[in-house]
Amino acid sequence: MAEFSLIERYCQDIGSTHSSTKIGVGDDAAVVQVPSGQELVISVDTMVEGVHFTRQTSAELIAHKLAAVNLSDMAAMGARPMWATLALTIASIEDNWLNAFSSSLDSITCAYGVQLIGGDTTRGPLTLTMQIMGLVKEGYAITRTKSSPGDDVYVSGLIGDPGLALAAIDGKVTLSKSDLKLLRERLDRPTPQVELGLRLSGLATACIDISDGVLADLTHIAKMSAVGMQLDLDKLPLSATYRNYLDNGGSLDIALTGGDDYQLAFSAPVHQRDNLNTIADQLNVPISRIGKVTAPTGVLLEMRYLGKPYTVESGAGYQHFS
Ligand code: ADP
Ligand code: MG
Repeated sequence: MAEFSLIERYCQDIGSTHSSTKIGVGDDAAVVQVPSGQELVISVDTMVEGVHFTRQTSAELIAHKLAAVNLSDMAAMGARPMWATLALTIASIEDNWLNAFSSSLDSITCAYGVQLIGGDTTRGPLTLTMQIMGLVKEGYAITRTKSSPGDDVYVSGLIGDPGLALAAIDGKVTLSKSDLKLLRERLDRPTPQVELGLRLSGLATACIDISDGVLADLTHIAKMSAVGMQLDLDKLPLSATYRNYLDNGGSLDIALTGGDDYQLAFSAPVHQRDNLNTIADQLNVPISRIGKVTAPTGVLLEMRYLGKPYTVESGAGYQHFS
């Protein structure tokens, strides 16, 4: 099949349709209209076979995760995701694979109101790059820089299941078959917290999505806001499966450093507590208050667990070039 019919067949009409898209797939470049009073928020993420997924990972899951990790960046900025482009490098044209990939990408982009407006297609080792673009009211993007002493520190959802799944896959921990199946689903199919991010805009003082582990990501906020944080790890929201692993001699470190959670970690002023509880109820997304922002001290994150100071044994989150 020629490259053009591949694009027509698998890359056209993916996702939602926006009237603000003036030119989509098919021309030399896409053209979109940014409404006045709004700003464009842009992010890009790449997934490489052998690094982010294995040869066994299905096309359906690859497409889902590619979109989800990009959507999660929009969530962290408090932006409404609108458009995406896709750079697709594939070893050969396999219709089954492309079909599964394209329909999965269509489902998730439709679900979050994103339109695929362009991309590039090349031959090579399986590599997928998605660029996502969203809109935020002028001046309302949530950055990492404005946490201030006295703020509360929160995380959304549950933390640690994807990390525990990875540890089990790597043979570092042993889980029952049913537990592993459950946690694998949480690793493979992250749910980006886009609606929560939108509600946090104008309310949270800083926000980040948890991709490298909650500690590494909160450290980014602490550094960039020039503050410290005191974390009460007893408040960390863990699944029943993770608690069970803890009860059987497991460590909290995987939840703290494992990553791939794609939940939001954020800070907010104390007077927003009621507001945040209402938002959590309305969206049916649990949020947990896990600590406080402090004036800068020598250590960025000070942790307590079971009534004692806590330190992590296994180092910080995942780094590609460490
Ligand atoms: P050019 O040679 O100008 O780069 P291409 O042949 O790469 O054009 O692409 C033709 C059109 O198809 C462009 O509008 C481009 O954005 C779109 N396109 C190519 N590959 C993809 C893809 N994987 N997903 C979405 N759109 C794509
Ligand atoms: Mg091209």
